[in-house]
Amino acid sequence: MIGELKDTNIKLKRIFIEPKLPAALEPLNKLAHNIWWSWNKDATDLIESIDPKRFVELNYNPVALVKEIDATTSQRLLEDKGFMSKLKKVVQDFDRYMDKKSSQKGTSIAYFSMEYGLHISLKLYSGGLGVLAGDYLKEASDENSNLSAVGLLYRYGYFTQGISMHGEQINNYPPQEFTKLPIEPVRTSSGDWLKISVNMPGRTVQAKVWKLPVGRIDLYLLDTDFDENNWEDRTLTHHLYGGDNEHRLKQEILLGIGGVRVLNALGIKADVYHCNEGHAAFNGLERLGDYIHQENLSYPEALEMVRATSLFTTHTPVPAGHDYFTEELMRPYLYAYIAELGIPWDQFIALGRKDKENHHEQFSMSHLAIRLSQEVNGVSKLHGLVSQKMFNGLFPGYTSQELHIGYVTNSVHYPTWIADEWHDLYTKTFGTKFLRDQANKTYWRKIHQVPAQEIMEIRKVLKKRLLDYVRETIQRDFTKRGESPRTIFDITNKLNDDALVFGFARRFATYKRAHLLFSNKERLAALVNNPDRPVIFLFAGKAHPADGGGQGLIRHIVNISKEPEFQGKIIFLQNYNMEMAKTLVQGVDIWLNTPTRPQEASGTSGMKAAMNGVMNFSVLDGWWAEGFRDNAGWALPEERTFAEQNMQDELDSESIYNIMEQSIIPTYFDRDAGGISTSWVEYIKQIIAEVAPEFTMQRMLHDYYDRFYVKVHERGQKLRSKQYAATVELNKWREKVIHAWDAIEVLDSQVMDTDNHPLPTGKPFEASFKLFLGSLSAEDVGIEVVFFKRKSEDELVPQLTKELEVKKVNGHTATFACKVDPQVSGVYEYGFRLFPKNELLAHRQDLNLVQWL
Ligand SMILES: *Cc1c(COP(=O)(O)O)cnc(C)c1O
Repeated sequence: MIGELKDTNIKLKRIFIEPKLPAALEPLNKLAHNIWWSWNKDATDLIESIDPKRFVELNYNPVALVKEIDATTSQRLLEDKGFMSKLKKVVQDFDRYMDKKSSQKGTSIAYFSMEYGLHISLKLYSGGLGVLAGDYLKEASDENSNLSAVGLLYRYGYFTQGISMHGEQINNYPPQEFTKLPIEPVRTSSGDWLKISVNMPGRTVQAKVWKLPVGRIDLYLLDTDFDENNWEDRTLTHHLYGGDNEHRLKQEILLGIGGVRVLNALGIKADVYHCNEGHAAFNGLERLGDYIHQENLSYPEALEMVRATSLFTTHTPVPAGHDYFTEELMRPYLYAYIAELGIPWDQFIALGRKDKENHHEQFSMSHLAIRLSQEVNGVSKLHGLVSQKMFNGLFPGYTSQELHIGYVTNSVHYPTWIADEWHDLYTKTFGTKFLRDQANKTYWRKIHQVPAQEIMEIRKVLKKRLLDYVRETIQRDFTKRGESPRTIFDITNKLNDDALVFGFARRFATYKRAHLLFSNKERLAALVNNPDRPVIFLFAGKAHPADGGGQGLIRHIVNISKEPEFQGKIIFLQNYNMEMAKTLVQGVDIWLNTPTRPQEASGTSGMKAAMNGVMNFSVLDGWWAEGFRDNAGWALPEERTFAEQNMQDELDSESIYNIMEQSIIPTYFDRDAGGISTSWVEYIKQIIAEVAPEFTMQRMLHDYYDRFYVKVHERGQKLRSKQYAATVELNKWREKVIHAWDAIEVLDSQVMDTDNHPLPTGKPFEASFKLFLGSLSAEDVGIEVVFFKRKSEDELVPQLTKELEVKKVNGHTATFACKVDPQVSGVYEYGFRLFPKNELLAHRQDLNLVQWL
């Protein structure tokens, strides 16, 4: 009938009739609006059981799922006694968990990150950095840490990846519907939506503040996409890592400066501001302003306070991972802002440069973050060392090893990444206490009591689940992109449940070297097609839209996977995300990672694999350099043999084939009469017992407290107390020293004649210096002798450092001397270093005054 009516005859208006949940089901809404459900099995099961198929279709989004519950479904659920009693129990668990939020205490942390990987249904992340931040918040919640987090709420987030028939990456940006996210507006005391603003050239940009509860942790998200902003500013929170450099600068102003304004508006003054990567480093500027305008500190005093409350975590040695802006780009955005702080523009720009005299050098957000933070850390032991070298230029007069750049090795959130089957076995075998003592290996070593049969049973279930998932995914994605039914049938049919399955999934950046495996296709074909020992390689990962090299790699692999001898053996799965990651790291037998060393700062996917009894075969880089144990996985050596990258790649790919052919594959397929590979099971037990516990998020969170948060908090308090008395004193001293430094003179020195005579073992090395100190006193300066070993033309490694003692003070002169037994033999190089000294200083390097005598 309707079809016969003329348009002009009908007047229609749209209305959305929201199904109303009966009161007894209302708690589902509460659960859906806190991402806590995602790492609690009972809650996940409960939500999924509402409609398992629809849940997957809705991208595992419970808010969307609950919104769809209509009268019929309500009725069904209300009548389902099992469901209703489970609901009651889960809500009880949740309420009990949340009740403890009010007892959060200890050092308070404000955490800043450009991305958060919390769940597949929240498009706030692109990859590892985000997933790490997400895992961290979850653990902070479980530990009831006093932590608040800040980020941006993206309308489109990072792209969703499609792959064409020919292997081209297609970038899709479906928008998120905010009404279907577990977020709520933050309201002021008068009930209005909290908005903050930041200045941009000629205008003010407004941002709405949302709250996303991560268990007990509040994540505040900024959103500029609404009417009060012009179109360009609305797009500020559209894409993660999209747009040009200017766009990025604006986003970082919003995150850093805006982020502090959010916390201030909420009355949150943290003891420690933790900058997760340099993107949010502008947060320090806003806090400088607070100290200057509200606390009446001078700029240097304010700087000391900002530093004394800040930690900066750097995440990559790859240059593209660090933001650089030209001065010209920054000027229109920040000139007035900096002027208001009372800092000369040049002085500000110098904070982002290595060499402040070099006017061509771009402003680095990482340099700014280092200058504004008392503590700096890398994300694995090796990456800590690499970062020391990388930032050595900021601290002239010191070798990289002497810098105060430390490390905390990354980790993963156990409840998020563990398979249910393993979790059940672990709790049964280890007892439940291990959950709050995750790094304690005494629990994990009990895995050795479990019969091999039981271990292999779990592995089999998980692998089957993965391969079924792969079949479904191929069916869906390949059909969509127009592959023939024949091809799809061939591939899914050839997928062998008994094969040894390798997984390789990560960002497709060229340094990750996904191509290594394909350097010798005949050898690879022979390897995957052995009928007695079938092998499958699963690949997944996104390349940044601007990274042609990464996209080329994907194309290369997709095209190889279509060649007849690789069908069903080499598979590229499109649109890597957290849900796929989970299925992969739980289901494969072995996780492969072949980065160019030492460019993988940490890597975390291999840790997820390890806790699921999945082997790692990786370059000894990042976390694996710490995690690798004999008989708990395989490694490519850490040392670099060739300076030429192509040669190194060739050698590494040879080693990869060799290790696979000679060790990994035989170990896996060496079965006993019962069909069990006992040595493989031993490997599994070993990686679970000795590796997995070291890379749990609880350990990482504790490390941050032990190595940084507490230290920063204590010094911050010391400097703040009694109206900043220590800050004022330190600053007076600093000015005095800077002023007097150049007047220091060596009047006399007596050092042994080491040019012509060797120092016999056992005989002390002696030296003394007489200095004219001008207006300084002998306590203001120190002299030390440093013995180095020369590693190469331009690398000295300090071996022994000994400070000289004050022997005599006479007016403006002082004599320093030492007597050292080096207790070693061999050839050393040594020198004497004069440095400013004050126990209120956080680090020796802080003044950037040092003189080699
Ligand atoms: C864990 C994870 C990562 C990080 O893995 P790396 O080993 O650091 O590359 C990236 N993306 C997703 C979706 C993940 O789950």
